[in-house]
Amino acid sequence: MESPVDRLRGFGIEVVRDQPISALTTLRIGGPARYHITVFTQDQVRTALEWCGRSGEHACVIGAGSNILASDDGFAGALVRLRGDFERCSFDGDRVTVGGAVMLTRLINEAAARSLAGLESLIGIPATVGGALAMNAGAHGVWISDRLEHVQVMRIDRPGVGEETLPRDALQFGYRTSGLAGCVVIGAVFRLSPDAPDRIRQRMDEVRWHRARTQPVGTFNAGCVFKNPSPDMPAGRLIEQAGLKGFRIGAARVSERHANFIINEGGATAVEYLQVMQHVVRTVRRHCGVSLEPELRLLGNF
Ligand SMILES: Cc1cc2nc3c(=O)[nH]c(=O)nc-3n(C[C@H](O)[C@H](O)[C@H](O)COP(=O)(O)OP(=O)(O)OC[C@H]3O[C@@H](n4cnc5c(N)ncnc54)[C@H](O)[C@@H]3O)c2cc1C
Repeated sequence: MESPVDRLRGFGIEVVRDQPISALTTLRIGGPARYHITVFTQDQVRTALEWCGRSGEHACVIGAGSNILASDDGFAGALVRLRGDFERCSFDGDRVTVGGAVMLTRLINEAAARSLAGLESLIGIPATVGGALAMNAGAHGVWISDRLEHVQVMRIDRPGVGEETLPRDALQFGYRTSGLAGCVVIGAVFRLSPDAPDRIRQRMDEVRWHRARTQPVGTFNAGCVFKNPSPDMPAGRLIEQAGLKGFRIGAARVSERHANFIINEGGATAVEYLQVMQHVVRTVRRHCGVSLEPELRLLGNF
């Protein structure tokens, strides 16, 4: 007999049961997702979200998994990933229409090849456009929302409505917030600025050089774990001043290179990782009275 999952597959949707989330995140931590669903077209997004709604499966969209700590118990629901049509990028003068699954680095490189500037300070953030917008990713004083005209979304709880266009002003972008909770970002339009190719490449090189020098490149991590309490008070500095560089529980360790990175040295559990986070929060509070807030998104039960 055909199972409900077979019906989804009949629409060309890929469904994997009990997929380890550790394979989907840059931290390489996390137990199984009950369903890992990959969709390639807008119709498939609608079909998959409607199916989740009907079957009572909690749906969560995942991008490049570069800002997620998933529970050791995994996620009792459906992780939805965009591919196919959502990996397209097309330029029209200084405007670019880009799918939610396009990697940010590709967008920036393709823009640079057309002498278009504006997002190059974000080079090296290992994000999809959808994930970067959901988190309002930023670096070196530039936010991805700065150049946004509008986003195309589908609502997780109202898949039947289809695609909606939300202008930038209708969203509430802030420090790692976007007002896009409950939405799947399927695409976006950005307006960039013409600039000299040499200048764009130089800025990209500077940002890459800065990352290589200051971040634990080549390790399993999720970028900065805590938000900066203020621009002149980086969380990394507070953690370092509290003497926590190198602090570890099991295989989860505060990076020696950048104290706001917590690294999985290989085989760390989510519990160990969270314990290191909690110890950092307690110690920094005791040391300087500041309460650090996580930037990382937790997935599943903790
Ligand atoms: C080495 C390293 C360096 C980093 N440097 C930076 C930095 O400089 N600045 C910065 O801001 N961040 C940085 N990060 C963190 C991370 O890359 C960003 O938060 C990024 O925006 C996450 O994008 P993602 O596609 O990986 O999203 P995921 O980690 O997969 O998901 C993050 C959140 O976005 C949601 N989401 C994902 N895709 C979509 C979508 N299509 N529609 C709606 N919601 C979606 C998810 O549900 C989740 O809540 C870094 C991470 C690493 C590993």
